[in-house]
Amino acid sequence: MRKKVVIPGEMLAIAEEFTACENAFQEGEKIYASTIGVAEYDRKTHEVSVQSRKNVKPFAPGCKVIGQVLAVRKSRVLVKLFEAMEGPEPRVLTQSYATLFISNVDNRFVEDLTQEFKIGDIIAAEIDSIKPYGIYLRTDKPSLGVIRAYCSKCRAPLYLKDNKLFCKRCGSIEKRKLSVEYTLTID
Ligand SMILES: [Zn+2]
Repeated sequence: MRKKVVIPGEMLAIAEEFTACENAFQEGEKIYASTIGVAEYDRKTHEVSVQSRKNVKPFAPGCKVIGQVLAVRKSRVLVKLFEAMEGPEPRVLTQSYATLFISNVDNRFVEDLTQEFKIGDIIAAEIDSIKPYGIYLRTDKPSLGVIRAYCSKCRAPLYLKDNKLFCKRCGSIEKRKLSVEYTLTID
């Protein structure tokens, strides 16, 4: 199977040689693309189709996700998912919520997740597993964890300074399971 990127209206083949399939159409003796994407020629079935760029794959274990902490218990965190990526490729989120268990949070010993995450925090995580009854996350890599936190006293965004989170508004100092990609810093 040969692949190339095509634009709408681009000629893909002559109708004598191929049949138009997904995102392709025949006009006269020729076959054209109806969307931007990757043209796929199947030499066995003599079918030509265009794999739309919008037609992205669903998320899977190993994908990186961004989400927001909705609830924190001692041993688990409930996360609302915003986006999923596999490397630079966006993936479709087929479910909106996921759970992070204490055993998947960090390589160091973690005793109580209420000391690591707070409601409203934005986190980066990896999909650990997808089960019929839920999506499970992990954050046990330096790039994973909280990327933006909010003050538990006054809700202002917290800034990273000397490995601690600092509230510019009320002076509160807090800690989290931080990602090295934390978004707000003070030099
Ligand atoms: Zn504050």
